[in-house]
Amino acid sequence: GLSEKLSAAFKKLRGKGRLSEADVKEAMREIRLALLEADVSYKVVKQFVAQVTEKAVGADVLEALSPAQQIIKIVNQELTELMGGASAKLTIASKPPTVVMMVGLQGAGKTTNGAKLAGLMKRQNGKRPLLAACDIYRPAAIKQLEVVGEQLGIPVFQMGQTDPVHIAKAAVEHAIKHGNDMVFLDTAGRLHVDEALMDELCKIKAAVSPTEILLVVDAMIGQDAVNAAKAFDDALDIDGVVLTKLDGDARGGAALSIRAVTGKPIKFVGMGEKLDQIEVFHPDRMASRILGMGDVLSLIEKAEQNFDQKKALELQEKLRKNKFTLSDLYDQMVQLKGMGSLSDIAGMLPGVKASDLEGAALDGKALQRMEAIITSMTPYERENPSILNSSRKKRIAAGSGTQVVDVNRLLKQFEMLQAMTKQFSGGKMPRSLRKMMGKK
Ligand code: GDP
Ligand code: MG
Repeated sequence: GLSEKLSAAFKKLRGKGRLSEADVKEAMREIRLALLEADVSYKVVKQFVAQVTEKAVGADVLEALSPAQQIIKIVNQELTELMGGASAKLTIASKPPTVVMMVGLQGAGKTTNGAKLAGLMKRQNGKRPLLAACDIYRPAAIKQLEVVGEQLGIPVFQMGQTDPVHIAKAAVEHAIKHGNDMVFLDTAGRLHVDEALMDELCKIKAAVSPTEILLVVDAMIGQDAVNAAKAFDDALDIDGVVLTKLDGDARGGAALSIRAVTGKPIKFVGMGEKLDQIEVFHPDRMASRILGMGDVLSLIEKAEQNFDQKKALELQEKLRKNKFTLSDLYDQMVQLKGMGSLSDIAGMLPGVKASDLEGAALDGKALQRMEAIITSMTPYERENPSILNSSRKKRIAAGSGTQVVDVNRLLKQFEMLQAMTKQFSGGKMPRSLRKMMGKK
């Protein structure tokens, strides 16, 4: 898979600080293939790759990640961003009824997913929807709507084979009269986009001014979905998209293409034939589906989370080898601040049991002062505190808003700690360290 290829390509780059143009180009070759395989349209892939390349070149590689992981992270972020960041919601009319017009090609899933949505609004929002049968062409279309309406306990409005524009208007009037706060218009589709269909849909739109026009697109048809989406959007100025049949093996590249070509959000996804199988669209989930590396993405997340832990282990190692420096002390303090519990910290120190630290409290002010002092030192000073003469100490005290006596105290504590590291071979935590941490 892509992740293996990337890892292989980047093995030699491990440890580099920044992503070079060559690194990114190499990775992007694979990313481009993955996107094309996922049915993202060629034009969109080209645009996307160029955009991400620009962002990625020169980016810092987080210490926690390999360059390959870093690029995947950036690509995933950009994909998610491109598909809309957060999830989009269904607009509700300020004056009911909310009219939702379902449009799309034949077989896309308009009837099924219109009903699913109505069911969702009924269940989750306590709405009282009405389904309206405006597809008068397809044999048994009205019957199909009645069947799903029955299953969901949602009323269906129909007038047989009359003019769909008239049916739509009458349905909205019916809803007002009967207290239905939502109307879902089930319109007709065609196998291909044609003028007669668009003409009819435009007339319905003009007649009832829908709150939302939702384009229903079958994720399985890949590239064709993009052309259809463009045609429907050009004619109707749609408000959003329902991407159906994602329970199949479609990688979902259509979602990215449709979003890129129309600029309209994917709002829901159909996940099966059953009437409760509809979900709010999550751009981040779709991004990992398109990349086809959900496992890698969760690994990256984990790597970042584990990074702090790894640092703690390194610290432990340094303590053991007596290479503990002021920089380490600072790192440790930064971690202490984000930790809240001293027993967690105990776990990082060799030979210390959590129970040794129970009830201990760190003085927040003292910590702050120590942090200010250490950050006022140069990196060289932090690694080599023995060079700190009185003029350096004065400078550090001034820089940290403390007194030289505070600087001296910190250095003394540090020396103590350093000396103690020699004793760290298991067993009890030295009393001096416990005292420093505030435990009696
Ligand atoms: P319409 O012609 O656009 O009204 O499409 P339909 O609602 O009649 O759906 C066409 C077929 O697709 C039906 O067999 C549906 O059960 C099926 N279908 C709709 N949505 C989904 C979905 O999300 N997943 C799967 N697997 N099938 C779906
Ligand atoms: Mg239908």
